[in-house]
Amino acid sequence: MSRGAGIRALARVTLLVAATSIACEDTSGPNNVDMHGLSKYDPPLVYLEWWKDIEECSGVEGDFSRVEWFLADSLVVEGDFALGLWVSPHDIYLIRTVTSTSWVVKHEMLHDLLKMKGRAHDSTLFDECASRDRL
Ligand SMILES: [Zn+2]
Repeated sequence: MSRGAGIRALARVTLLVAATSIACEDTSGPNNVDMHGLSKYDPPLVYLEWWKDIEECSGVEGDFSRVEWFLADSLVVEGDFALGLWVSPHDIYLIRTVTSTSWVVKHEMLHDLLKMKGRAHDSTLFDECASRDRL
């Protein structure tokens, strides 16, 4: 698929690893992302609510409708399974089992609002605004 090839070419990647820890990567190589079973996703209404939550919490506003959503059977980034992935400029990938997991979805939304890639998650907003939903 050309879409997948384009994504690999872009390969600006963040990821979530495992259910209890988050590890995001900033990769640039063409072979670092492996996605299976991709399909476009029409986000449920609750996502708009979560988007507003994350905007309010972060103080950063963005256009929800600019985000393109995709589901995948699996996301593998640099050899690690990921739950979610944000790809610049506004693509969010989720594995099918986490579409109702607010902290994962909000985490990726926050990447979009902050346009922030990379392992460091330099902003404390990831903890303050997304991870708190895990409690
Ligand atoms: Zn992240």
